[in-house]
Amino acid sequence: MATTVAPAAAKKQGMYEVVMAQFERAADTMGLDPGIRKILAKTNSEIVVHFPVKLDNGTIEVFTGYRVQHNNALGPYKGGLRYHATMDLDSGRALAIWMTWKTALAGLPYGGAKGGVELNPKLYSQNELERITRRFTYALGDNIGPDLDIPAPDVNTNPQIMAWIADTYSSTKSPATRFANLHVVTGKPLGAGGLEGRDRATGFGVVATLKSWAQRTNKSLKGMRYIVQGFGNVGYWTAYFMQQEGAILVGVQDASATYYEPAGIDPDALNDHSAANGRNIAGYKGAGTIEPERFFAIACDIVVPAALGNQITKANAGDITAMVVAEGANGPTDTEGEAILRSKGVDIIPDILCNSGGVIGSYYEWLQNKRSEIWKIDDVLGMIQDKIDTAFNLTVDTANEFKTDWRTSAYIVALRRLEKTYKERGIFP
Ligand code: GLU
Repeated sequence: MATTVAPAAAKKQGMYEVVMAQFERAADTMGLDPGIRKILAKTNSEIVVHFPVKLDNGTIEVFTGYRVQHNNALGPYKGGLRYHATMDLDSGRALAIWMTWKTALAGLPYGGAKGGVELNPKLYSQNELERITRRFTYALGDNIGPDLDIPAPDVNTNPQIMAWIADTYSSTKSPATRFANLHVVTGKPLGAGGLEGRDRATGFGVVATLKSWAQRTNKSLKGMRYIVQGFGNVGYWTAYFMQQEGAILVGVQDASATYYEPAGIDPDALNDHSAANGRNIAGYKGAGTIEPERFFAIACDIVVPAALGNQITKANAGDITAMVVAEGANGPTDTEGEAILRSKGVDIIPDILCNSGGVIGSYYEWLQNKRSEIWKIDDVLGMIQDKIDTAFNLTVDTANEFKTDWRTSAYIVALRRLEKTYKERGIFP
C-alpha cells in the first residue's frame, strides 16, 4: 500500500543473497533435513509477463510483470504485488521466500509468493494505472486464483489496485462464479469485499511486537523516541499506534525528504500532508530537515524501517543508537548491517515476525470472503494480536532453546513446520 521509497531506491536491491544467507544460517542451526533444504532453497515457479498498455497520450508502452511462487506445502501461495522501479526476478524471489517463512511462522495455511510490475507508479495517471493493473491481471491469467495464489498490497499498491485485480479476474470467469472469486486477492476496499482493519493491520502488528519486546525487557513504550523510514501504509499506521502508546516520533524519511524533530512529529498531520502531495512528505512545515545520510544516526530508542530492502547496511548500522530495530519493511537489514547491530547488542524484531500483521489480516479477509461474512474491526484486531503474540512467544522460546538470535529462531519455527509437513505427506510420486 502506497509505501514511499527510500533514497537508495533507484538501484536494484540484491535481496536474494540476504534471504539465502538467513536461510542457510537457520538450516545449519536447526539441522534441517538435507532433502527439504534442497526443496526450500528453490522457488517452485517464476512467471514473467510482458504486456502492452495504451497510455493517455495514445502511445503504447510494454510493461514487465512478475509473480514468483516459492513454496505451497502449507497452503495456497500468498503475498503482495509491488509497483516499483526495482521490481525484478531477484527481488521477487527474495520477497516470495520471505512470505513462505512469514506465513509458516504465523501458523497460516499458506505458502509464499510475491510479484509486481517494474515501473514508477508516480509517473502514471490513475486511468493508466487502472489499465496497467487490469492488463497485468489478465496476463497472469490462471497463474493466480482464490485457492491457488492470492495477491495483496505491497509497496506502492493499495486497495483500489486490489479492487481492479478482483474485478478483472472475476470478469474473465463465468458470471455465476463472480462472488466465489472475490478472495482471489486481499487488501480490497470495504465495498469490494475488504476487511475492516486490513488497512492498519501491518502497523498494528509492528506495534504489537514492540509491546511484547518492551514487556519482555521490562520497559514501557511510553515516552520512548522512535524514527520511521517510509511513510506509506506501514509507516503511518505504525506511527498511529505508537502514538496511542505514548511514544514520540522524532524522525521520518521517505524518498522526498528527511525530517528530524526532537519535540515530536504529529503522525496525523504528516499523513494528511503526504496524502495531499501524492504520498510525499516533502514540504511539511511541522519538522526540521536533516541530510538523508544522517537519518539512522538520529538519537532514539526504536528504529522502524518501513520502506524497502537493504537500507541498514555496513554504511550506517554503526550509527544506530537505538535499543531495537523493528522491521516493518521486508529485508530492510542486510547481512553485514545485521552483524554490526548484533555486535552492538541491538535487538532486531525480524521482518517475518514484525510485519506479519498484514498477511494475518489478509488471512481473515480471505476467510470472511469464503464464508460470505462481514466481520467487525475490534474482533479482527484481537485475532491479529493473538496470532502475533503466539508467533512472538514461539520465536523467543526457540531462541532460548537454540541460544540464537530472534531472526534465526523465527526461521526455525517456520522451517520446523515445513519440515513436519513434508515428512508427513511425502513427495509425489
Ligand atoms: N505485502 C505484505 C507482506 O509483505 C502483505 C502480503 C499479504 O497480505 O498477502 O507481508
